[in-house]
Amino acid sequence: GSFEEMSLKESLLKGIYAYGFEAPSAIQSRAITQVIEGRDVIAQAQSGTGKTATFTIGMLQVVDTSKFETQALVLSTTRELAAQIRSVISALGDYMKIRCHACVGGKSIGEDMRALSRGQHIVSGTPGRVLDMIKRRTLSIRNVKMLVLDEADELLGKGFQDQISEIYQYLPPSTQVVVVSATLPKAVLSLTNKFMSDPVKILV
Ligand code: AMP
Repeated sequence: GSFEEMSLKESLLKGIYAYGFEAPSAIQSRAITQVIEGRDVIAQAQSGTGKTATFTIGMLQVVDTSKFETQALVLSTTRELAAQIRSVISALGDYMKIRCHACVGGKSIGEDMRALSRGQHIVSGTPGRVLDMIKRRTLSIRNVKMLVLDEADELLGKGFQDQISEIYQYLPPSTQVVVVSATLPKAVLSLTNKFMSDPVKILV
């Protein structure tokens, strides 16, 4: 397959090639189109398979950059991972003028508030700080269309289950959910049963 076959926005395609990707990885070939079509997706994939760019490319394709409101939310386990995901989103979305903010614990609340008040298309964060920002009404989730749970098995293993469920309660009922997980233990499957409807399962 090729990235051209995915009918991506020209600006996004430009960002992908500028980043140095030539052809999609296996998971990208199978999952990006499903994400763009709005399906709930469970991708069983390890680090190193190109999982981050999978949800990032899908997300960038569906975000409307003319609206300065948060349309997609990525939750991950650690501050470092959330920051790394933010930088991949910014790089691939460079030609789209994407605004993406990392919302993580340990940084000043004021800094988050200033960034979010400017309007961020995508927020990448850890569950605790994201929930805090939602409760303070600093992060408006009214227009969120997509929720990504990266390394879902790790998220649940680290005890983020209640925070994730609470965040999910705030999101519009029609929010698309994309789950990436190296393993699919019971805890992940029960979460996906609760949050997802008729998910596509992709194993790489
Ligand atoms: P990940 O699975 O998200 O941890 O990504 C693993 C590595 O593969 C990262 O360094 C990515 O930049 C790289 N990568 C992801 N997709 C592609 C691609 N289509 N072509 C070349 N490298 C890629």
